[in-house]
Amino acid sequence: MEREQQIRAGWLIDGSGAAIRKNLLLTLKGPVIHGIEDFTESGCHPDVPFIDLSDCCILPPLVDCHVHITLSGSMDPHLRRKQSGADYGAIRHRISRNISTYLAHGILAVRDAGDCHGHGLRFKEEKAYRNELPVIVKHSGSGWHRKGRYGRMIARCPREGESLAAAFCREDEHNTDHVKIIQSGINSLTDYGRETAEQFCLEELAELVKTAQRRGLKVMAHANGAHPVRTAIVAGCDSIEHGFFMGEENLRRMAGEGTVWVPTICTMRAMGRATRSDLPGSDPEVLEKTLQQQLRQLGFAKSAGLKVAMGTDAGSWGVDHGVSLASEIQLFMEAGYSLPQALRCASVSGAELLGVEQHIAELRAGGPATFIAVNASPAMLALRLAAVKGVWLNGVLQGRDLRR
Ligand SMILES: [Zn+2]
Repeated sequence: MEREQQIRAGWLIDGSGAAIRKNLLLTLKGPVIHGIEDFTESGCHPDVPFIDLSDCCILPPLVDCHVHITLSGSMDPHLRRKQSGADYGAIRHRISRNISTYLAHGILAVRDAGDCHGHGLRFKEEKAYRNELPVIVKHSGSGWHRKGRYGRMIARCPREGESLAAAFCREDEHNTDHVKIIQSGINSLTDYGRETAEQFCLEELAELVKTAQRRGLKVMAHANGAHPVRTAIVAGCDSIEHGFFMGEENLRRMAGEGTVWVPTICTMRAMGRATRSDLPGSDPEVLEKTLQQQLRQLGFAKSAGLKVAMGTDAGSWGVDHGVSLASEIQLFMEAGYSLPQALRCASVSGAELLGVEQHIAELRAGGPATFIAVNASPAMLALRLAAVKGVWLNGVLQGRDLRR
C-alpha cells in the first residue's frame, strides 16, 4: 500500500498564478498529491501521519533560470579575477556550496549561463554529484562570443574564419544541456541606454540555432538593446537573457514567437546600491534609470502576455546565489506582478524553460508531491525565502522529521 501523509498548510500558492488559498489540508499518497481541501479537525484521519505547517506557505520548488554556478557574487575585483582563473579543485567546492545555498532557499533547479573553462560541465560528469543533492543543474558549459567583444569570462569564440555553428560542431560536447550565446555587450554604467552592436549576424545565429535544435538543445541569448535582441528573436533563440532596452516592438515580437524573457533585474539593483568606491566609474543616476526602465519593460511584458521566467545572474557582480531570487521576486512585484504571479515565473515557468516540468509543476490533486514549505506568511515570504522548513520530493520529506 502506498504511504499516506496529511499536511496542514497555512497558505498554499499553487504555482498557477491564482490567488493564495488559506488553511488547507494536503493529502499525499506515495509520490503524488491525492487531495487539497479546506482544513477541518474532523477531516483529518487519525491513523495517517500528520504534519502541522499552519505557520508556513507551501509552494512549488523555485527555479533560477540564470546563474553562474562556478562564480560567487563577490564585489571585490581581486577576488573576481582570482575565481575566474581558479583551478577545478577550488571551483568544485564553490559549486557544491552554491548548490547547498540553492537548497536552503527552496531552489531545486538552476540553469547555468556559462563559465569559460567548462568547469561546470566537468562537475556534472562526476559520479559523486549525481547523488549529492536534489538540485537539478542544467549546464551550458562555456558559452560563445565574438572575438574581441564582451564575454571572455563566461564564453569562448569561434576560430578565425569559422562560423558559430561550425565551432559548435567542432567542440562536439555531448553533455551540455543548452547553448549560451553572447549577442551584445553589457549595459553602460555611465551612458544611459547606450546600445552595443550585435556580436553575430542573423544568418550565423540562425544556423547555430538550427544546429542546436537538431541536437535537442535550446539556445539562451545574452542580449541587450533593440537590434541585438531583434536578431536573437528572429534567429529563433529560445530565451532572451537580460533584454535591457530591447523596446516594446521586441517584447511584442517575443509574445508572438513564444520566446521566453529572463530579465535579471536584480543585477542592476545590486549595482545601484553599491557605493562609488565599490563600483568606480559608475553613475548611480544612470543605474537607477536603467533599473526603472527595465521595470517598465516588465510591466509591459505582463500586459502583452509574454512568457517570463525568473533568473538572477547569480555569480555576477554583487549578485549572491540563493538570496538574490528573493530580491528578483520583489522587483517583479514592483513591476506590477502579484506574489502568486511572480512565484509562477520563479517556479513553473522556469521549470518549463529548463525542461523539468515533470518534476516541478503546479500543485494540484494528481500532480507530483514535490514542493517546499517556507516558514512565513505570504506578506513576508519574499523576505524570508531562506526560512525553508521542509522540502518534499515526490512525497518524501528531505532531511529532518517534522511529524507531530
Ligand atoms: Zn549571466
